[in-house]
Amino acid sequence: MAANIIDGKKVASIIREQVKQDVRDWTNLGNRPPKLQAIVLGNDPASHSYVGAKMRACEEVGIASDTLKLSDTISAQQLEDEIRYFNEDENTDGILVQLPLPSHLQALTVIESIDYRKDVDGFHPMNVGRLAIGQPNFKSCTPAGVLELFKYYSIQTKGKHVVIVGGSNIVGSPLAVMLSREKGDTGKATVTKCHKFTKDLTKHTIDADILVIAAGSPGLITGPMIKEGVVVIDVGINRIADPNSEKGYKLVGDADFKSVSERASWITPVPGGVGPMTVAMLMKNTLLAAKKSIYPR
Ligand code: NAD
Repeated sequence: MAANIIDGKKVASIIREQVKQDVRDWTNLGNRPPKLQAIVLGNDPASHSYVGAKMRACEEVGIASDTLKLSDTISAQQLEDEIRYFNEDENTDGILVQLPLPSHLQALTVIESIDYRKDVDGFHPMNVGRLAIGQPNFKSCTPAGVLELFKYYSIQTKGKHVVIVGGSNIVGSPLAVMLSREKGDTGKATVTKCHKFTKDLTKHTIDADILVIAAGSPGLITGPMIKEGVVVIDVGINRIADPNSEKGYKLVGDADFKSVSERASWITPVPGGVGPMTVAMLMKNTLLAAKKSIYPR
């Protein structure tokens, strides 16, 4: 039986609509609109496309935004100085530095130089640490978006075995923390986190009630690797060559969609699954930053 589609585009637009309303309420109280500052280095087309989507979403929901484009040869010190300016700017609520960074820069050092109270990506160790101990924090947008999909489609995680393939700091690891928490209204799952050193991946994936794939490896998960009825969340976004497309490429996830959707009960498409949720959650975090809801100063 073909899997039901988890329509991230639809859920994201509902969330953006809610944020738009909340932004309107906020400005109607006499506050200035929230402001998101993006910083992008170099000319990587994918990075510019992601930042462009974030800026368009800001405009749609009434969040002011700006993109600072910097050379990919910028020194660590110069970049830190630029970030410090926005840290200190009272009119800037959220700051994001689009990843990946050029190889001469350390992502963690750059992330740590962002004021954690403006870290709307939720990557700063202060936010990651507070997530781990269940304290209010800016939640990393992609995992938070995955949780919203579960909520919208009433997919229960309590007591389920969730297998996450990929353990990066921005997707797999925070998602594992969110899903395995015993307290609160999300999670309560038993989580297995797999990575590139995991032996016999299928041994784990076949046992999943819910499978989240965030490895960046097109076609990594195929039908025979999963059990019948599993919920599949495909976070992967991979550009692969496609001579039939105008752009010369198409986007695919980490699942072999055809064989996986024949066995799964639910599946996110790529594109149109998790991607739009990430942007919607960024809007939500930027509004929270403007309202100082997480960190009242
Ligand atoms: P990453 O490269 O930082 O981490 C990849 C993780 O997958 C690592 O833990 C690695 O060990 C694991 N991995 C790689 N190959 C594997 C294999 N063969 N078997 C098991 N584990 C394997 O990547 P990332 O930044 O977490 O991104 C992962 C994917 O998710 C990419 O395709 C990226 O484009 C996508 N992504 C999507 C969104 C979104 O909004 N939908 C957001 C962030 C990342």
